[in-house]
Amino acid sequence: MPDAARPPSVDRLARSLADTGLPHPLLVDVARRAIASGDTSTVEARARDDASALARTLLQPVINATGVLLHTNLGRAPYAPPLYEGYTNLELDLATGERGSRHAHAASLMARACGAESAIIVNNCAAAVLLVLAALANGRGAVVSRGELVEIGGGFRVPEVMAQSGARLIEVGTTNRTRRADFERAIADNLDVALVMQVHQSNYRIVGFTEAPDARDLATLGPPLVVDIGSGLLDTACPWLADGPPSWLRDEPAARQTLEAGAALVTFSGDKLLGGPQAGVIAGRADLVQRCAKHPLARALRPGGLVLQSMQYVALAYLRRDGNAIPFWRAATAPLSELRDRADALGRGKVVESMAVPGGGTLPGVEIPSIAVALDGDRSAALRAWSPAIIARVNDGATYLDLRTIDPSHDAPVRAALAAL
Ligand SMILES: *Cc1c(COP(=O)(O)O)cnc(C)c1O
Repeated sequence: MPDAARPPSVDRLARSLADTGLPHPLLVDVARRAIASGDTSTVEARARDDASALARTLLQPVINATGVLLHTNLGRAPYAPPLYEGYTNLELDLATGERGSRHAHAASLMARACGAESAIIVNNCAAAVLLVLAALANGRGAVVSRGELVEIGGGFRVPEVMAQSGARLIEVGTTNRTRRADFERAIADNLDVALVMQVHQSNYRIVGFTEAPDARDLATLGPPLVVDIGSGLLDTACPWLADGPPSWLRDEPAARQTLEAGAALVTFSGDKLLGGPQAGVIAGRADLVQRCAKHPLARALRPGGLVLQSMQYVALAYLRRDGNAIPFWRAATAPLSELRDRADALGRGKVVESMAVPGGGTLPGVEIPSIAVALDGDRSAALRAWSPAIIARVNDGATYLDLRTIDPSHDAPVRAALAAL
C-alpha cells in the first residue's frame, strides 16, 4: 500500500507504469521527474500523464483526416507496405555471387518506369540536385532562368544548393519572362557552361505577363539540359490509372515527357506525386547518371535498403500499371460516391462537400473535390488524443474530417473515435 506521507520509490513507481509499453529506463526518468515535482498525493497520476505524453512523442501511425494528401508534417506520401525483414541482396549479384550494385533493383526499375536509360536513387530531391550539380558542373557554369531561382520550403533554395555544389550560377532573363535567346546569349558569353537547368516552380505560380521556354526549346542549346521536375509525376498519361490522368493534374510536368523532350537528366522526389518514401531520383542519360553515381558525394547521399525496398515496391506497381497499389494514387482518385458512402457510415457529424489538396509544395491552387464529416466546435485535440491519433482540419469553429486522405482501413477507428467524442 502506498504511504500517503512518503513518496513512492522510483523503481516501484516506474514498474507500476509497465502497462504503458515504454521501456523501463524511460519510465524511471518519468518516475524521477514526478517524484521530484513534489506533491505526494498526485505523484502517480502525474507520472502516468508524463508517460503517456512521452509515448505520444514516439514515431507512430496517424490517421490523416486533413484532406492534404501530401502533408509535410505527416511524412508527405502515405507509405507503401514494407516488403522484407532480415537480409536482402542489396549489393549482391545473385547470378554470379559477385558484389552487385545498389542501383540494380529499385533504381533500374524506376528508370524503366519513366523511360530513362538509367537512374540512381538518393535521399531526397535536394540531394539529387546537389549531386547532379556537383558531379557535372563543379567549378563550371549552370544557366538558370531568374524566374526559377525558387525556394521550395524547408530551406531548399536553388541558388544556395548551386553554391554548395561548387557550380557557378548564371542567371538569365527576368522574374516573369525568359526566352531561349537569353540562354543562347549566356552560353555564347560564358565559355564554360556545363549545364542548362530548368527548375519546376512547384509551390507557386507566376501569372499574367509571363514567358518561359519549355524543355524542348532548351534541350537543343548544346550543354546537357537538367530538369528538376520536383514532384515526381512519371508520365502525363498516367497509364497506372484506369481512367487516365485526373483533370487536376493539368500541366504538371512528368519525367517521361521531359526526357522525351530532350532533357539529359530529370530529378524528382520519391514522396510527392510519385507516392513513395522520402527519396530522390536522378534519371536520364546513362553516362551522366554514371558520373553522378561515381562522385564521392554519392555515398554520403545514398539511401539504405529500407528506402530502396519501398521504392522498388512503387516502381513495380507503376510497371504493372497498378495505381491502386500506391496509397497516394488510391486516395487521390477515389470516387466521390465512395467517399460519401464511407462518410455516411461513420454515423456522426454532418456529411458535407469538401476540397482536398495535393499539398507537399506541389500543384499550388489545385483542389480535388472531396467529402468530409463536419463536427461543431474545435474537436482537434480530442481526435489527436485518440489512438491512432486522428489529425483533422479546423475551420471557422468547426472540425472537418476529410474522407479523401483517410485510408478505408482506418474507417473503423475513426468511427469509434467519433462515437466516443
Ligand atoms: C520538392 C522539390 C525539391 C526538394 O525535394 P525534397 O525531396 O524535399 O528534397 C526540389 N526541387 C523541386 C522542384 C521540388 O518540387
